[in-house]
Order: sequence, then structure tokens, then C-alpha cells
Amino acid sequence: MPAFSYLHQLFSADTCHAYIHLRRWQERSLQCPRCQSHDVGPWGTYHYRPGCKRYWCNGCQRTFNDLTHTLLAHSKRSLVYWILATFLLCLSCSSRRIARELGVHIRTSYRWCWWLRNAALSYEMQRQLAGTVEADELYHTAGRKGQATQGGNKPLGRRPRRRREKREPGRGHYDKDRPAIIAWVSRQGPVVVQTVRDFTVTTVQQAADLAVQMGSRLYTDSASSYRALKGYRHDFVNHTRKEYARGEVHENRAECLFSLLKPYLRVFRGLTKTNLPGYVGFFQFLRNFRSQNAFEQAEMILRAALDPSVARRARKGEFVTCFDHFNLLQTPIN
Ligand SMILES: [Zn+2]
Repeated sequence: MPAFSYLHQLFSADTCHAYIHLRRWQERSLQCPRCQSHDVGPWGTYHYRPGCKRYWCNGCQRTFNDLTHTLLAHSKRSLVYWILATFLLCLSCSSRRIARELGVHIRTSYRWCWWLRNAALSYEMQRQLAGTVEADELYHTAGRKGQATQGGNKPLGRRPRRRREKREPGRGHYDKDRPAIIAWVSRQGPVVVQTVRDFTVTTVQQAADLAVQMGSRLYTDSASSYRALKGYRHDFVNHTRKEYARGEVHENRAECLFSLLKPYLRVFRGLTKTNLPGYVGFFQFLRNFRSQNAFEQAEMILRAALDPSVARRARKGEFVTCFDHFNLLQTPIN
């Protein structure tokens, strides 16, 4: 028995290919991904990719396999890497951790995480809450981490914060490297977490229209932006008067959600504000499918990644762009 350094060395390539084959053709029977023809036949295997079967399409006279036009196509790494990476992502590991556990380069794992996170967000596109909804906000310090495209450090556009230097007083703002995160928590279970530029009345109204159905009951704290909301049956508790619950009226679920969001974000050791919506959106996905274990969540992501229409958009990062409320909810200058 040889000594192994990585978990995936115990996995069999044949099992993984059979698993992916089943997931890919679960909803549609085996067909050509180019011309959708069902007139296909087996066409041998790949000597460099054990377990992967090749097919011939009589319609367009070309070959294809289980991974054609999916997120996993053209990858030099075998499927065992992808399955384990998706599983670790659902355990909210950072991309550096995934790179170490898999034995791949950090840039590989960063790209995979980015794609898979996009694929996961395809489940969260249409989510809107109804019934009784609680809301709360948080300001998260997120600056301009990472390297500039031409190399070297990005220009900060401000004095460096140094070690825990005091931040500017007052409410956070995207331009002050402290965007707001608003959590909408339905008492029926589902949640919506949004990253927004600021916490003005206009922004909160736009965010609420996206996240919560009109006419729902809304419980918040006494922030003036919530009190100005239109279209909801609104009630609030006054924290300044040490009032945290008044019968049915409280927002403890929303605050509880933040106590889970904060340690989730801490794992990544600082995020750029441009990447923050993707990470927060993925937290929303994990939270909304919390009744399933990490492997079932990974299976959902893989099923989305194997869908050619989702894969094409996920490679371009379009799902995170839909989640990026920084530009969507920009306060108009008047
Ligand atoms: Zn074809």
C-alpha cells in the first residue's frame, strides 16, 4: 500500500465518472450537446482519462463526452479533484485551504471556487421572501485586497489603515471601504442577504423591493431607513430604549444570521469589496439549503455546473453580477 498525501487518492476514477454521467443525463436522456440529436453511439474512451466515455453524434458528425460544454470541460485535473473541491467549498473552506488539501495551484483553486460559487448562485436568482420577515444591517470592512492587473499592489486611494487603526466615524459606505450588508430573514425559513453601497432610504427601499414581496409583514430595528419603507406592514423595536422584543415583534433571527455570517467571512481573511457580493451570495445559498448536508449541497452545485446554459454564464461570472447590488442600487445623484 503506497503512502498517500491527499484524500482524493483513495477515490476511484471510474466511480466518479459514473456518478457525473448519472448527474449529467439525469433530466435529459443522452443527447448531443451541440445539435441535441439523440442519434448517438459509443466512440471508445480516452487513454489519458480513465473512466470517461466518448460518444459519436450521427447528426453533426462530431464526438462528445459527459463533460462537453459543462463547467468541468477542458480541465486537466480529473473529476475526483472537482468533486472534492466542491465538497470543501460547501464546508466554507477558503480557496487557499482547498488548494492545499487538493494539491493544486492556488490560482486553479481560486478560479474553480469562483466558477462553482457562480453555479451555486444560479439557485438563488429568483428568491423573494413573503410572510413575516425580519431585517437587520451590518457594515463589513472590505477594501481593495489583491494585486493590480499590471502587477504590484493596487492603489488604495486613502491612507493605509495599518494595525487596527481607527476607522472613520459614522455609518459605513462602499466608498469608505465599509459597505452595508442587509439580511432579510423569513420566519418560514428562507433568507436573502444583500450587499449594498450604503444605508440610505432609497437604497433600502430598492433592496426591500427585490428581496421581500409587497404587503409582507416586516419587523426591524428603529433605523430611520426602515421606518421610511413603503409597501409593507412594518413594525419595529427600539434598541436605544433597551427594547429587544415586544411580543411577536423582534429581529433576533436576523441578528442570529449575522452571528453566523461573521465567522463565515472571517475564514477568508479579508475580501475585496468587488468580491464581497459573491461570497455573501454563496452564504445565502448554504443557508437556504441548510437542511441538506455538505455533500448534498455539493451535488446541487455539480448538477448546475453540468448544465451547459448555467456553465456558460458561470464562467463569465454573470450570476455574481446579478447579485452585485453595488451598481444596481446606486443612489441617484440629484
Ligand atoms: Zn450533434
